[in-house]
Amino acid sequence: MSSREDGVMIVLSSPSGAGKTTLTKLLSKNNNYSISVSHTTRKPRNSEIDSKDYYFVNQEKFKDLIKKNEFLEYAKVFNNLYGTTKSPVIDNLKNGQNVIFDIDWQGAKQIKEKGLGYKLITFFILPPSKDVLFKRLSNRDMKDKLIVEERMMQFNKDILHWVDYDYVVINDNLESCYNEVNNLIKSEIGQLNNSYDVEFIKKHIASLVN
Ligand code: 5GP
Repeated sequence: MSSREDGVMIVLSSPSGAGKTTLTKLLSKNNNYSISVSHTTRKPRNSEIDSKDYYFVNQEKFKDLIKKNEFLEYAKVFNNLYGTTKSPVIDNLKNGQNVIFDIDWQGAKQIKEKGLGYKLITFFILPPSKDVLFKRLSNRDMKDKLIVEERMMQFNKDILHWVDYDYVVINDNLESCYNEVNNLIKSEIGQLNNSYDVEFIKKHIASLVN
């Protein structure tokens, strides 16, 4: 059972390349939120550190964790398995620590459906346009044209999940996106009104799905 002193769960999802990982790190650093470190079967990128960015594990270990019912949620994303283990999250929440999750829509859905009894705030982060997304993906560590194309195709599917989130925020400029998410979290925690404009978001979605 949750109490007023329990931490809050903050989920950030986005189609690949919308800048959510940077945003997650910034929110965590400035507010002392604990980042939920996922397990994945994906190979580490050059800059990534094991146990900090992810717990990098093989398929066997991942399947073992599934069998032992250790995951709060898990999903297959771009042919790799990703999952959030339960106990560190629950421990943090019970200690009054807010926890932030950088997970995809499948994981967000599973956490929502679990109904853990802790306050949950979900955000879907979107790029300002398809052109900007294409440039961001091309400049990332994936110089491979095929991967960029694959992620652009996936974007058209992923964006449809915006309806499942509490808030959709556009990441045009990192600082203003950060401020918007931060203000929305503060308003939710303090149960204050906010200026979220769903009609504006609907128009933006329409421009991205064309
Ligand atoms: P990347 O491989 O680029 O780090 O992440 C690919 C996608 O997997 C991102 O959308 C990221 O949010 C998602 N992801 C990372 N960790 C988890 C997790 O534990 N569970 C789920 N469902 N998705 C995750």
